[in-house]
Amino acid sequence: MIEVSREEITIDVETIKAVKGTRDLLPPETERWNLVESVTREVFRTYNFQEIRTPIFEKTELFARGVGADTDIVAKEMYTWEDQSRGGDNVAAGRQSLTLRPENTAGVVRAYIEHRLWERGLNKFYYIGPQFRRERPQKGRYRQFFQIGAEVIGPPPSGSESPARDAELLELLASLLDRLGIQQWRLELNSIGCPADRARYDQVLRQALQPVAANLCADCQRRAQTNPLRVFDCKVPADQAIIETLPRISQFLDEPCRKHFDEVREILASVGVPYTLNDRLVRGLDYYTRTAFEFTHGALGAQNAILGGGRYDGLSEALGGPQAPGIGFAIGEDRLVMSLGQSAATDGAKLDVYIAPLGTGMNKEAARLARELRRHNLVVEVGEESFRLKKSLETASKQGARYALIAGENELSTGVFALKKLASGEQRSVSRDRLLAEIQG
Ligand code: AMP
Repeated sequence: MIEVSREEITIDVETIKAVKGTRDLLPPETERWNLVESVTREVFRTYNFQEIRTPIFEKTELFARGVGADTDIVAKEMYTWEDQSRGGDNVAAGRQSLTLRPENTAGVVRAYIEHRLWERGLNKFYYIGPQFRRERPQKGRYRQFFQIGAEVIGPPPSGSESPARDAELLELLASLLDRLGIQQWRLELNSIGCPADRARYDQVLRQALQPVAANLCADCQRRAQTNPLRVFDCKVPADQAIIETLPRISQFLDEPCRKHFDEVREILASVGVPYTLNDRLVRGLDYYTRTAFEFTHGALGAQNAILGGGRYDGLSEALGGPQAPGIGFAIGEDRLVMSLGQSAATDGAKLDVYIAPLGTGMNKEAARLARELRRHNLVVEVGEESFRLKKSLETASKQGARYALIAGENELSTGVFALKKLASGEQRSVSRDRLLAEIQG
């Protein structure tokens, strides 16, 4: 253990700040996060999803293969380091490249394959946790941010590609946002077909881009060569007029993909979930298939996407697993909390009782009382041992306690306690066995 003097500690606390792009979530704001998480867990439960927790760091290769080496995330934004492994059970000594997870789908699918979860009949998972990307921080965009996500995978050998799964996930999301009281959301929906559709489309898109690419931004010029579909991700205003003229994937869907998409839309209509078709909504990787979607929220400003998701029928195989079609989404929890109205609970815990130990040697009695009351779910704070009753009562009021309970020598010897209702100032003598009933009553 390193010994440091008090002075050094003070200096450190003043000097060291949270890393750029990360932030502390403080009370009472954390209450809003807890509210979101508890409602979310409840909603997931009613749709038969179960929680999965995967490690926060994984082998870099997982993301290179699972997210795609030419994506911005993998090419520019990952926190990656060479880790010195010391060897041990099944681990060769040496260096290996590890990465803080920038997203959680790859980790969930890895776990699904590694533990052969289909053999346990598991196929609906959700997760809640931090993700890391070295993006340019701004409001709603952080380097450590939280995602709430869900994945429906498999089962092998061929899995379910049913459009009913897509529609169920979208309906779950609409219900969740409604339950959280988030209005003004908008669901944008597209189908990007299957790899064969995209191969045909890719050729046509490259041809269409050839004469105009020189007038687009540098990123788009690169995309036109490497992954033309990504041109549709471009946010540069000057490029939009040209992009508008490009052919769309919707014109290239084969019959099964078109039928799949039609059925997703029919189910959504029948359960009353509104959506807008957006045939610019694309995902650039080979294993993404068919349904792609995004929910946006009007009040969020520039970073207005609350969540994104879609089908990834080829991902399990891309990670060396069996053929197991899947679909999932990731909600940006930071943005979800931002879009909660001010109405959501922000009060923090309500203090029921402030115990004021009066005189020396009273800490033990105060601790016993606190233990008893907390066992019955009361929120209890125990004050410092003191001889100054007035000061203790002031502290109790400042902390917003409903009652102050005075634990002094007299009380201890008689078994009768002074219980003060702080709102009215009314004080009563209550015997120990009546305390709980009095406070709860
Ligand atoms: P993605 O994993 O890129 O599909 O993102 C899914 C959702 O996560 C987005 O719609 C955002 O709400 C959220 N998100 C992505 N990146 C960030 C970030 N850097 N900061 C905060 N939220 C993010």
